[in-house]
Amino acid sequence: VFDMLVIGGGPAGSAAAIYSARKGLNTGVVAERFGGQVADTVGIENFISVKATEGPKLVAHLEEHVKEYDVDIMKSQRAKSLKRGEHLEIELENGAVLQAKSVVLATGARWRTMNVPGEQEYKGKGVAFCPHCDGPLFKGKPVAVIGGGNSGIEAAIDLANIVSHVTVLEFADTLRADEVLIRKARSLPNITIIKSAQTTEVLGDGNKVTGLVYKDRTSGELKTVALAGIFVQIGLVPNTDWLKDSGIELTRFGEIVIDAKGATTLPGVYAAGDATTTPFKQIIIAMGSGATASLGAFDYLIRLGQG
Ligand code: FAD
Repeated sequence: VFDMLVIGGGPAGSAAAIYSARKGLNTGVVAERFGGQVADTVGIENFISVKATEGPKLVAHLEEHVKEYDVDIMKSQRAKSLKRGEHLEIELENGAVLQAKSVVLATGARWRTMNVPGEQEYKGKGVAFCPHCDGPLFKGKPVAVIGGGNSGIEAAIDLANIVSHVTVLEFADTLRADEVLIRKARSLPNITIIKSAQTTEVLGDGNKVTGLVYKDRTSGELKTVALAGIFVQIGLVPNTDWLKDSGIELTRFGEIVIDAKGATTLPGVYAAGDATTTPFKQIIIAMGSGATASLGAFDYLIRLGQG
């Protein structure tokens, strides 16, 4: 029986595992792919105290740091369900069942993609998902934001300070963002908002993005916009499908509801990072919340021991 079992090996899970092991707890990590989203990231320039690094490099450092401790890392394993028996029971896709006194859920999230030609090919070469991360790469250049919800309009306002021009493309005939954000976006001279626009293709020169094609859903006409970057802001999907029958409260977006100590609604189960209700999804924030959840779980175990 593990004292603490961490599900997920991204920045949140790695931080949780290290904090747990440093308390002398018998710690395990189950990770489908160690490193998580960081493994897909090209340049990272906002991980404070490291001026610039690359995803795979940071993943190697994460793993090296976790391996400094006596942590049982189970890679290429996917958790399938969680339930409470005598202990907390995590069933894996391979049929194995792991027992733990406390669990930290850190299964992260994935960006929703447009699924149009060119999108995958130019990921990291102009197709981006995180304005906080990649905005500065497009300084003085024209970009598009796909999606007119809160994250899309916020991204457009944010990017308008950095890039030359932002074109927002929204599929529906109305914007779903809050009125105050829409008003702010409309007041900025270098933002153009196009509604009823369905992006159909990402264009590039083989090395980087050069533009996109969209269909005007009113006229049916295909139009081309010249661009250096495309920020896809059509939603972040938490990897929490497997928790649906666990009794743990999820929001309607599938995010795990946590309190200030990272506790979920199931006693002994804590959560951290992009899979949770934490409002901002960043590496440094995921690591901090992993530490919080781990300390929260430690607190729970101490009380359990006394009880
Ligand atoms: P993740 O990194 O998503 O890790 C989740 C972990 O859980 C993985 O190990 C995964 O394999 C595992 N997992 C999922 N489901 C299961 C399951 N059922 N069973 C077992 N394991 C499972 N942030 C920044 O701060 N700076 C940047 O420059 C930056 N650039 C980014 C660029 C891209 C392209 C992307 C996609 C994201 C970027 N981010 C950046 C965001 C950052 O990567 C995330 O906020 C951070 O990785 C979240 O950490 P996490 O540990 O919560 O989740």
